[in-house]
Amino acid sequence: MSIQLFNQTRSLSNEEIEVFRNNIGKALDLLLSRDYVDQRLQSDAEVSVDVRLVGTDTIRKLNSEYRGKNAVTDVLSFPILDMMDGKLQADLMPYDFSYDGGKKCLPIGDVVICVERARKQSEEYGHSLEREMCFLAVHSFLHLLGFDHENGRDETSMFEKQEQILKDIGLPRCDSDIHIPDSDRITNEEPDAHPVGEMLKHCGYCALVGRPNVGKSTLLNTISGMKLAIVSHKPQTTRNNIQAIYNRDDAQVIFVDTPGIHKPQSKLSEFMVDSSFRAAKGADVVVLMIDGRFSKPASVELRAAEMAKKLKKPIILAVNKADAVSKESLLPLIANYSGIADFEAIVPISALKDDGVTELMDVIISHLPAQPRYFPIEEVTDQSEREIAAELIREQILHYTNEEIPHGTAVEIDAFEEDLKEDAVDSYDRSLIRIHASIICEKDSHKSILLGKNGQMIKRIGTAARENIEKMTDCKVFLDLHVKVRKDWKNRQVFLDEFGYKKKDD
Ligand code: GDP
Ligand code: MG
Repeated sequence: MSIQLFNQTRSLSNEEIEVFRNNIGKALDLLLSRDYVDQRLQSDAEVSVDVRLVGTDTIRKLNSEYRGKNAVTDVLSFPILDMMDGKLQADLMPYDFSYDGGKKCLPIGDVVICVERARKQSEEYGHSLEREMCFLAVHSFLHLLGFDHENGRDETSMFEKQEQILKDIGLPRCDSDIHIPDSDRITNEEPDAHPVGEMLKHCGYCALVGRPNVGKSTLLNTISGMKLAIVSHKPQTTRNNIQAIYNRDDAQVIFVDTPGIHKPQSKLSEFMVDSSFRAAKGADVVVLMIDGRFSKPASVELRAAEMAKKLKKPIILAVNKADAVSKESLLPLIANYSGIADFEAIVPISALKDDGVTELMDVIISHLPAQPRYFPIEEVTDQSEREIAAELIREQILHYTNEEIPHGTAVEIDAFEEDLKEDAVDSYDRSLIRIHASIICEKDSHKSILLGKNGQMIKRIGTAARENIEKMTDCKVFLDLHVKVRKDWKNRQVFLDEFGYKKKDD
């Protein structure tokens, strides 16, 4: 038997690695000598297994690539031979063997273990990391040999075998730790429980409109459960609105974040108005979000109400920041707003504190038609990482500067470079992403605001944006930001094109 051990993490000492190598070597030897394992494996070749120790980002990517699940799990097994309960299902063929430096080998599969996850589990179960890692390896070896505990197979026998091996190599179980690895062989993959096209009771698009700063992005982040954490790898669309997708067993809501509704003053705000309309036009329901601290509707809100009426869309009023106002002050607000549109519902929420959001979702969902599922359940947004990085930088400009600056700025990603890890298994196995980006503004005075005293402002924007991009990409990020002035760029179509603000003909 031979085990190739690849350690792709830095979270184990050399000593721990050696102990692990030694344990799993013994375990595999013992396993192969058991009478429940096909003796044909013990030919003139050495049974070989590759074992990889990886971090959470790699196991997540493997899970999403091979199992369609965006999840961090403890172990993955990739069997090579067709085996069932220890028995080969077909005779070994010459191509089953490989020659490693003249040595004849019989590769039976790969095992990938997430060390961080194993460490966490060992703490939860109160046993050593050594035992947990070995447990996961042996469990996985049994899978490679065709043992299974799912699909109605005899699970006790698999667990008994596993515990016997662990006991024989001196890592017996303590009473507290009966557990089943949370991820398993991929060959017996159950069919996707939520395929695209599955008929849903409610499915559709929701346009989220409202003036800047009322909390639209906060709501999208809250309902996505994380900061736009997953990026789909399907071909990009040219849409500028970030979409978040909310999934429930019986429903799917695709959110369209609109840049806001403004009086057209320049080509850029024309574009923004256009895109709000476009988003609303394609939507099944419109949510107008307002800041609960301001009780009177103004032009933006009136425009939105008018737009919904014109497009004959149901409209819901979400009164955000309810955490920052008294209940009493909501009454006059509701009275003021009731007149401007025929709202399906008026729902006070706190996007920030996740209060009332479920109620809002219920109302939205009740206005969506029965339709087949549009997107696979893992997808949170349809933009590329590059586009979202630009959006996350813009978000921080909005956050740190006053209102006149953001609408005169655009963010341009000049370079988006990925360094792969030394032992990268695939192209998502990145060690660092380097992003060079320019913030384009209209005036020198804007530039100095964006830079701030001693560059403090740009530093703050950069740090906050970098942290969010790291969350999104699950990777360390180096972010280099520059501020450039391009006079009157807002009115020049050539610049608008360059920054992706292309007008689309519907
Ligand atoms: P957007 O421009 O509409 O996307 O607004 P953002 O989501 O960027 O939010 C603007 C500001 O309002 C941020 O500082 C948020 O933290 C804050 N905010 C958002 N939702 C809430 C809320 O429910 N309560 C309070 N107190 N602040 C909120
Ligand atoms: Mg926003």
